[in-house]
Amino acid sequence: MANEPEEHLAICRFCHAFCGIRVTVENGRAVKIIGDRDNPLYHGYTCVKGRQLPAQHYNPERLLQPHKRSAEGHVPIASARALDEIARRLTELVDAHGPRSVATYAATYAFPYPAGGAMANAFMDALGSPMRFVSGSIDQPGKPVAVALHGRWHAGPQAFADSDTWMLVGANPVVSKWGGIPQYNPGKRLHDALKQGMKLIVIDPRRTECAEKALIHLQCKPGEDPTILAGIANIIIGEKLYDEAFMQAEVEGFEALQAAVAPFTPAYVARRADVPRDQLLAAARTFAGARRGMTTAGTGPNMAPRGTLTEYLVLVINTLCGRWLRAGEPMPNPFVLLPERRGRAQAEPKPPAWGYGEQLRVRDLTDNAGGLSAAALADEILLPGEGQVKALFSIGGNPMTAWPDQLKTHQAMQALKLNVSLDIKMSATAKMADYVVPPKLGLEAPAISQPNEGIWFYGASTGFPEPYAMYQPKIVDPPGGSDLLEEWEVFYGLAQRMGLELTFAGERLDMHSAPSTDALFELLCRGSRIPLDEVKQHPHGHIWNDPSITVLPKSPDWTEKLDVGNPFMMSDLAEVSSEPVTDHGGYAADMTFTHRLVSRRLNDVYNSSGRDIPKLVRNHRYNPAFMNPNDLEALDLHAGDVVEISSDHATILGVVEEADDVRPGVVSMAHSFGDAPEFDRKVFTIGSNTGRLTSVERDYDPRTGMPRMSAIPVNIRRGDQRIARE
Ligand code: SF4
Repeated sequence: MANEPEEHLAICRFCHAFCGIRVTVENGRAVKIIGDRDNPLYHGYTCVKGRQLPAQHYNPERLLQPHKRSAEGHVPIASARALDEIARRLTELVDAHGPRSVATYAATYAFPYPAGGAMANAFMDALGSPMRFVSGSIDQPGKPVAVALHGRWHAGPQAFADSDTWMLVGANPVVSKWGGIPQYNPGKRLHDALKQGMKLIVIDPRRTECAEKALIHLQCKPGEDPTILAGIANIIIGEKLYDEAFMQAEVEGFEALQAAVAPFTPAYVARRADVPRDQLLAAARTFAGARRGMTTAGTGPNMAPRGTLTEYLVLVINTLCGRWLRAGEPMPNPFVLLPERRGRAQAEPKPPAWGYGEQLRVRDLTDNAGGLSAAALADEILLPGEGQVKALFSIGGNPMTAWPDQLKTHQAMQALKLNVSLDIKMSATAKMADYVVPPKLGLEAPAISQPNEGIWFYGASTGFPEPYAMYQPKIVDPPGGSDLLEEWEVFYGLAQRMGLELTFAGERLDMHSAPSTDALFELLCRGSRIPLDEVKQHPHGHIWNDPSITVLPKSPDWTEKLDVGNPFMMSDLAEVSSEPVTDHGGYAADMTFTHRLVSRRLNDVYNSSGRDIPKLVRNHRYNPAFMNPNDLEALDLHAGDVVEISSDHATILGVVEEADDVRPGVVSMAHSFGDAPEFDRKVFTIGSNTGRLTSVERDYDPRTGMPRMSAIPVNIRRGDQRIARE
């Protein structure tokens, strides 16, 4: 007899926003998701992806047991046996080539499962390998590097909630749930803010959902964010719109900045970035003339050339306008599941930005504030010699579609001696792996919201806007007959088999008796402002406001200052201003190309996740090449036509779609689609991989290794129209 449906409260872990949800469970299966109206932060918000959690958990393509590659293809293998074999091969590799031969790559789906990433690091510590890479290093490494150069304001930034202006640079948080507007129902938060009079400024080559609502939209040429931001800084300085008292007390490098931005006159910026001069002036005056509010940048400008400089100039503009919390103001988020953060109104000492830790064997790259460059990992696998990477663990990631220079990645995946993919399905990477070890999914294991507190340290305006936390117990068992491990169990199990002792969050683990996920969460939350046990008493999540936690005054004799004139960044600015500009705007070097390809997000998918869920691919199973109708007409193309998109590095196929929100001369495509080259002609079902257009060896940031993954110069030509719409 069927059991009565039950309702449970949970954290959606489809993406990084962690919405509070209600899950209806019938006969042990999750059948329906709605937002939890009683959740104090999300107030019932969900998006279309989150509502598909049942389809994700019970997807017919989901792997329910580990698989091993064999001559007959991938065949099922018991998890214990898979770990035995992987441990044996790892031991052989480490004995023969040393611990550096083992690398981990933790990506999008490592973030919501914090015990997994922490256990992988504990395993690598015990092994003695420094080769840990994260997807952030090929996404927005410029954010933490810029913070290291400019300095972090200890108390943090002004909050969105009480701001009267906001400037979004290549960010569309309504869709991406990232980049400035808090990702907790960002559409409503923006709507409410605008209703209260917030003046929104958007810099973006596309008329995005956010740009539609902006007071000023600078629809610029892609890749010109440093030019525009330097121009805005120049106007703020020239018109003395900056916060003079704050600058004098807390900031150094002003003269160097003033000289470096001087060439970026309104006329120069207008011509180069192809934006109206009056709008540029209005943007600078509106932002600087407001009382409170931040400038924030999204993924696109970070993937474009000079992402670090863009992020640095974002910080510079905020600092010029004094947009950091002052003594006596409430701390918007003093943390909950992390130790209490009682900020001071002062600049923190600056950590090194690069040049420390592990030295990579290519392009003189070192560890840096954004992490070892995953853009160099394929080279580390392919380059023979001491230290060559032979074994890779991909944790919640899909290197074959996410890494730049896809053909090189393809070679690297083939060259690995041991390729282990922790993935829920046969992704492009899993198909090439020796072992695919599928993990449990979000509703099948306990969850904590702590990662969204820790991300506060990644940039300058990220993470929960309020002291919110939530815990979720396991809601459902994995499907019957499955053999799934949580990510942390994989690394703990390997360590047991290899005789390694693990230290997790500072605690030596008992290697004979495995801990529970809850016990690991206790360790991760040790010393937190609010004990995890108390958080568990609030199943809807809770906001632990404490009005007594206010920003403390500057320490006596404190001399550290924010730096707006960092010599590396000033030198980069000089390089930008020295570039020849054509009469049509843009770099002269790019003029052999007719278009620039920019990355974007699609509402229905999350990087390479969600494309096997029917309701999420109602519009397209692929990533269309969105182009302005005038461009299509000029090229005699029509929506649905197949095109060849060529950079100076490679050619991919694409399917064009008419979009009048895209400025002429731009191709707008979501990244992380596609598959290995042999599947290219399935462009209508798997899409195209924009990463293939990028060379990791040219146009890269010499400190972070970040290559040019957006604003890529391309040419478009009609492709083979016989390719089937399967
Ligand atoms: S925004 Fe959507 S996918 Fe992301 S956590 Fe919320 S409901 Fe889930």
